[in-house]
Amino acid sequence: MKIVVTGGAGFIGSNVVRALAAVPEVDEIVILDDLSTGSLDNIRELPARLLTGTILDGALLDEAFAGAASVVHLAAIPSVPRSIHDPYRSHQANATGTLLVLEAVRRHGVPQVVLASSSSVYGGNLALPKRETLRAMPLSPYAVSKLATEAYAIAYASCFGLSVLPFRFFNVFGPGQAANHAYAAVVPAFVSAALDGRPLRVFGDGRQTRDFTFVGSVASVIVDAVRRRVSAPDAVNLAFGTRTSLGVLVGELEAVLGRRLEVTYEAARPGDARDSQADCTVLRSLFPGVRPYPLRAGLEVTVAWM
Ligand code: NAD
Repeated sequence: MKIVVTGGAGFIGSNVVRALAAVPEVDEIVILDDLSTGSLDNIRELPARLLTGTILDGALLDEAFAGAASVVHLAAIPSVPRSIHDPYRSHQANATGTLLVLEAVRRHGVPQVVLASSSSVYGGNLALPKRETLRAMPLSPYAVSKLATEAYAIAYASCFGLSVLPFRFFNVFGPGQAANHAYAAVVPAFVSAALDGRPLRVFGDGRQTRDFTFVGSVASVIVDAVRRRVSAPDAVNLAFGTRTSLGVLVGELEAVLGRRLEVTYEAARPGDARDSQADCTVLRSLFPGVRPYPLRAGLEVTVAWM
């Protein structure tokens, strides 16, 4: 099986490539990545061929997708604040990029495409837990672009018979996640501050909650999806129904590091949802064998990696 991972030099992508490399039926892995937020360091040791360039380049998509058994489409500009800073660029990479990926999947008759959407599509819908049937209420250009990602996939399944599996990732964390930039996600930002002896910056009162998901759990679900060629008629939450406040996250990190950490509080950021927790009924029905990593164990691995 030849598998293509767009965004494979990124955080989630490189973990997926590593997990795919251990699958006996997978004999070729191609990464298509423009290295805008991904890095060569993430994939240096991995047995994959890198095509450097953008998913907006149809010829490069053709080169990557010919003969593929599955495309795992993760390439995107993956940040709410970045999309507020430059909405059009996020739209191009995330929405237009997905459209071009689906067109190339169609041209090459690729039998399956797995795609990354985001819990941010629930946005202003405050109901908990987040069931896939809830009305999407995106609060940022990023969330709109991710809603477009999954909607295009579902439309292509309906119009052209593509076999698609759009996942809504929640807050994924783990090794490979960049901490050293202004748009860093909360777990790498906290771990890096803690290890450097800086205060942990909380935007808001710290009582906001997230369904943190260790990247190893995400990678094993995606690998299982590729092996069994799983598809779904609608987007599927990929998280396990835990609800952790940032205050509790700080406590977990203190337990892992064995010391107290200093925290500062700043104004909440626009576009950020207050609470998040997945309903994972659909995920469990599609992937009954999956065993998620607990938060503490995932933090230990992340701290050791950093
Ligand atoms: P990441 O920034 O580490 O990975 C994204 C990768 O895509 C990078 O390697 C980047 O260089 C590449 N890329 C960006 N634009 C590209 C383009 N035009 N052409 C080719 N490559 C391009 O981020 P990540 O956290 O690994 O995110 C992976 C996917 O998961 C994204 O689609 C993101 O929206 C989605 N997602 C992530 C989370 C999370 O918690 N990390 C949550 C929800 C959804």
